[in-house]
Amino acid sequence: MGKRIGLLTSGGDAPGMNGVVRAVVRMAIHCDCEAYGIYEGYEGLVQGGDMIRQLYWEDVRGWLLRGGTLIGSARCAAFRERAGRLAAARNLILNGIDALVVCGGDGSLTGADVFRAEWTGLLDELVATGTLTAEQVAPYATLNIVGLLGSIDNDFSGTDATIGCYSALTRICEAIDDVFDTATSHRRGFVVEVMGRYCGWLALMAAISTAADWLFIPEMPPRDGWEEDMCSIITKNRDRGKRRTIVIVAEGAQDRNLNHIASAKIKDILTDRLHLDTRVSVLGHIQRGGPPCAYDRWLSTLQGVKAVEALLALTPDTPSPVVTIRENTIGVSSLAETVKLTQETAASIDAKQFDRAMTLRDSEFLDYHRGYRHLTTADHPKMLLPDSQRMRIAIIHVGAPAGGMNPATRAAVAYCLTKGHTPIAIHNGFPGLCRHHADKPVGSVREVKWLEADNWVNEGGSELGTNVGLPSEDMPTTAHCFELYRFDALFLIGGFEAFTALSQLRMARDRFPAFRIPLVLLPAAMSNNVPGTEYSLGSDTSLNALVSFCDVVRQSASSSRRCAFVVEAQGGKSGYLATTTALAIGAVTVYTPEQGISIQRLTTDITYLRQNFALDHGASRAGKVIVRNERASATYSTAVIAQMINDEAHGRFEAQGVVPGHFQQGGKPSPIDRIRAFRLAIRCIDHLETFAGKSHQEIVDDDLSAAVIGIKGSHVLLSPMGGPAGVEATETDWEGRRPKHEPWLAHRKLVDILSGRAAVETGLNGDREGWGCYDSGNSSSN
Ligand code: ADP
Repeated sequence: MGKRIGLLTSGGDAPGMNGVVRAVVRMAIHCDCEAYGIYEGYEGLVQGGDMIRQLYWEDVRGWLLRGGTLIGSARCAAFRERAGRLAAARNLILNGIDALVVCGGDGSLTGADVFRAEWTGLLDELVATGTLTAEQVAPYATLNIVGLLGSIDNDFSGTDATIGCYSALTRICEAIDDVFDTATSHRRGFVVEVMGRYCGWLALMAAISTAADWLFIPEMPPRDGWEEDMCSIITKNRDRGKRRTIVIVAEGAQDRNLNHIASAKIKDILTDRLHLDTRVSVLGHIQRGGPPCAYDRWLSTLQGVKAVEALLALTPDTPSPVVTIRENTIGVSSLAETVKLTQETAASIDAKQFDRAMTLRDSEFLDYHRGYRHLTTADHPKMLLPDSQRMRIAIIHVGAPAGGMNPATRAAVAYCLTKGHTPIAIHNGFPGLCRHHADKPVGSVREVKWLEADNWVNEGGSELGTNVGLPSEDMPTTAHCFELYRFDALFLIGGFEAFTALSQLRMARDRFPAFRIPLVLLPAAMSNNVPGTEYSLGSDTSLNALVSFCDVVRQSASSSRRCAFVVEAQGGKSGYLATTTALAIGAVTVYTPEQGISIQRLTTDITYLRQNFALDHGASRAGKVIVRNERASATYSTAVIAQMINDEAHGRFEAQGVVPGHFQQGGKPSPIDRIRAFRLAIRCIDHLETFAGKSHQEIVDDDLSAAVIGIKGSHVLLSPMGGPAGVEATETDWEGRRPKHEPWLAHRKLVDILSGRAAVETGLNGDREGWGCYDSGNSSSN
């Protein structure tokens, strides 16, 4: 038998904590360990007794979709004292627990770090006072602790996201999206207060996601005289025709002298000085509640798995780790270091060292903040480039609509205007462009105004109109139009068609000088199948739509108790959407085009279902879902698989196939798609700008003049399309219309391990080979 792993959730609850518990419990069992739930956070550890209970496979069934934490959380004053921690050490040893997973916020992990540092001393004291014998404590000489960052605030240094922060952001954005309607109708102002006592992450990301007019965060107090600055920007935006005014305030907002800036005070300023009908909305605890968003479900799952892996890999000399995520890569860093950095940030704020606090948050936070300030309004005299560097930048959407296309366009337009460029929208893709030429102008090429684009910040689909048509359908007219409208640069937003279009334009440069301009692609595809990136805009929006759909299906399955559902996911020839959905809902298994479906596979799955239904005697409330990508097999369609399961179930249960279809495109873009659209679009315009004033030859000679922006591992990168090392030649599976390397493929196996299907397969062929203890390596998702 392996380790006995204790697990607790502590401090403020966060959506996704239950996903952590499920993943840790099941992964522990899969790796021949035992899992113990320590109830009510450190309180359970201090009190012991029945507050520490073994958790079995079935105990955590259906937990992925539940908000809060089902093993409870508490603030525990006793654990802050050495006496409390002494009792905790005793309880761990008496329960034979030799490893601890702590999921919580800043305070909880500080507590964990103190406990770890004191451990040897605590054991000595337990022996010296006769509480335990030397023999009893001997096997527990080192305490292996792994921390998981569970907090809605996202206030940790060294990680991009904490478990729960995107669910809270989702709640905030939904609320502000709703406020838009009433604010616009009455030309009102709204001051929206969000959580964040020391950390403005939620407020900043909400402001970016909703194009708020002004923002207050604790770590970047406004300069003195901010009242006039705020009123001036709001007046300018109103004069441009903006009917709604949104101000976002973090609860810990303060001025440079650390005086609290209250929402009511801001409301009074707007009412008195601008005579604006203004209301205050304090979102409060609603931000914590509700089911976790898709990101928090897969993040909590992958990080829970990583925590068990990290525990099993620890030696007495390794420092206690904390599990992190950087862009798309899950990793570990030192618990003590992370806690220290996070505390330094808070201390810097208290010491009025705001610049230092912003740097400690991480460089990306600073970039977002800078970007936000530049896009809030169109008036930035200091940012304007000299005339010689100003460009006419065309923006085009290509392929199927995807969440994030509009916010990306809005950010690009606003940023172009800030810098003095001319943003030109091409409507309805390349066919729209070709229909529109000098003799026959149909309005599909025109300059975009700030106000028009500002309204796109939270709109789904494509306001410009997108089209799958490629430039190759009429290359000469395409080139003619490029010349006619004097495009200096082209910004493409779209999926695999956009990628293909970019490749065609690049290759046609030798015949058409009009294409010898910088070209850049921001991938946007619900299927997440664009080479050059591990994440395409819109994939998170679709994932959320599909996950919500599956939640409903699952509820129906669990109510009838004897029904399994086969849900058909889109994604073309890429199994990303299907696999990540399966991971996020805890599906039985997933069928992908990369792997295909064999008769042997189906047989195992039917056996699994049969055993599973027999075991739970109809008591399962979780519902069983299989996710099948639409192109996983030409033979075994969704309907055929459902029918086969029905035939083999012999009336003991039944299966139904469901096709959510276009529902998967989702409604409004998810906050993740909005903020990534914002950040990546700005990066794209910055990139195009580097070619200002260069000759055609210089542009053609630079491989990066035709580039795709993407998230690769833990970085955001621009990759050249052409050249020997270019994405077209090295990373593209042209026939499969997907990247050659798909880092999420490893997650298929994890879906099977965590559903229990892997154990059934092992039981059937007696072969543990291939399943073993899962090794995620450099787990990345998206
Ligand atoms: P969060 O983890 O969400 O930041 P808290 O700051 O309330 O929440 O911390 C949760 C619990 O962690 C506290 O109730 C306490 O039991 C423990 N804790 C916090 N700070 C310390 C500390 N410095 N030493 C020991 N335990 C601590």
